Amino acid sequence: MRYATAMRRILLSLVALAACRGSEPTPRYLTVGTDVAAAAHLVTAETHDGVAIVEVAADTDLEAISAIAHDQFHRCGGFMVHDSLAEAHAALAPPVVRATPDYTLDRADVVRAVLPTLDRAQLLGTIRELSAMPTRYYRSEGGAAASTWLAARWQRLAAGRPDVTVELVDQGWPQKSVVLTIPGRGRASEVVVLGGHLDSINLRYPEAPGADDDASGVATVTEVVRVLLASDYHPERTIQVMAYAAEEVGLRGSQEIVRDYKKRNVDVVGVLQLDMTNYQGSDKDIWLMKDFTNAAQNTFVTNLIDTYVGATWGLDACGYGCSDHASWYRGGFPASMPFEARFRDANKKIHSRADTLETSGDNADHAIKFARLGTAFAIELGKGGVGATIAASPPVSSGGSHRWWLALAGLGAVGLMLRRRRVS
Ligand SMILES: [Zn+2]
Repeated sequence: MRYATAMRRILLSLVALAACRGSEPTPRYLTVGTDVAAAAHLVTAETHDGVAIVEVAADTDLEAISAIAHDQFHRCGGFMVHDSLAEAHAALAPPVVRATPDYTLDRADVVRAVLPTLDRAQLLGTIRELSAMPTRYYRSEGGAAASTWLAARWQRLAAGRPDVTVELVDQGWPQKSVVLTIPGRGRASEVVVLGGHLDSINLRYPEAPGADDDASGVATVTEVVRVLLASDYHPERTIQVMAYAAEEVGLRGSQEIVRDYKKRNVDVVGVLQLDMTNYQGSDKDIWLMKDFTNAAQNTFVTNLIDTYVGATWGLDACGYGCSDHASWYRGGFPASMPFEARFRDANKKIHSRADTLETSGDNADHAIKFARLGTAFAIELGKGGVGATIAASPPVSSGGSHRWWLALAGLGAVGLMLRRRRVS
C-alpha cells in the first residue's frame, strides 16, 4: 500500500510536470539487480550473475522501480536504462577495461600546496544553496534551474582562466548535466573525471532538498574546482568535473555521457564518483565500494587517503547500479566510489523532505575529507602543477620556452572560443 500511495502521487506529479517534458527518448530495456526485479515483480527476460534484463513499455515504470530500489534496498539509482536489447546484453558482459595508468604518488609538493586552501565553510555554503532549492528533480523546472545555477557558479570560479570551459549538456530533459573542463597540457587527450549527481528525488512529496544526496557530492567537487583554479593549477591530463542529470532514475545522465565518450573514443583514464559525502554513519570515515569499480584504482585511492587525507577507510559493496560510477565501469573505464559510510549505515533520510543539512549536524566536517581526497585524486592523476611549480619546470621540448609560451597562448585562444560557443 505504501508503494501504491506513492505511485498515485508520482502519477499526479508526472501529469503536473508533463508540460516540462522535452523530447525524451523512450527507454526500452533495463538491467536491474535480481533482488530489485523480484521485489518489483518484474518479468525478467534473462538473468546473469545477479543482474536481470527487463523490457519496459513506458517511462512511468522507471518511477515504480525507483521507489522499490530506493525504499527497500536504499540504492541511489539501482538500475540502468538501455536503448536496445543488444546494449542491455553488452551491459551484462564483463567490461573490457582500459589499461590502468601509473599510480605512483609523486606530486606531494603540489597537493600539499593546494590542500590548505580547502574551506569547509565554502563547501557548506554550496550544500546550503543547492538544498535550499525546492527540488532538483530532473524533469522539473527546479531541476533545470539547478543546472543553470551550477554552471554560473562554476563559470565564476573559472574567471581569469580562459582555458577552462563550462558546458550545459542537453540530454533531452529539462535538467542538463553540467561539465567543467580544465584542458591538459602535454597529455590533453587523456581525461580524468570527478563527478556527482545534480538531481534529487522524493517519491512522496514535491520537496526534495537532497542535501546529502547528492548536494554534498556536487558541493565537494565544486570545492575541489575552486581550490584547483584559485591555485592556478594546470594539469597535464585534461580534468573534467561533472554534475550528472537524472541519476536517480537509472543513472541516465552519466550513461548518456559514457555512451557519447565511447562513440568518440574519449580516453578516460580514471573516474571518481562522489555520491553522499556528508553523513558519518560508521566507525571509519571513507568507504570504498568494491563492486562495479576498479580494484587497482581503488588501491590508488586508499593510498591517497593514507598519504593526504588523514582519514580512516574501509571496503564495502552497494549493489547493482547504485550510482554513476557503474555507468563508467560498464563503459570499461576505471572508476571508484568513496562513500560516506558503510552502505547499511548510510543516511536514512535521503529521498525524503528530511534530507537536510541538519542530519549532518549543519556542518561539512565529513564532506571536507572527500574534498581533500578529490583534490589529491585530481592532482596525482592529472599531474602537472600550480603556477609557480610550472614556471620553475616547464615541459621539456626541442623548441624551448618560446614554443611553450606560444602553445599556452594558443590553448588560451581555443579556450576563449569554446567558452563563447558553449556557455550561454
Ligand atoms: Zn545519490
